[in-house]
Amino acid sequence: MHSRISENVVTGMIRISGEVIPGWMDTEPCTGCGIARVYHEKYDTYFCYECNCWLEVLVAT
Ligand SMILES: [Zn+2]
Repeated sequence: MHSRISENVVTGMIRISGEVIPGWMDTEPCTGCGIARVYHEKYDTYFCYECNCWLEVLVAT
């Protein structure tokens, strides 16, 4: 697990490299790198901080 990301389930905030955003860590992994993706509540989409990209298009299984 990466140490530069932490989740506060009480406040519903996630801290990534010192930046705090509203959201939570998803149970589904990023299709690009395999780590847990992050749900960004402000933009209503998923984000991978490792790939540094949005994961808006996801194939439902
Ligand atoms: Zn990724």
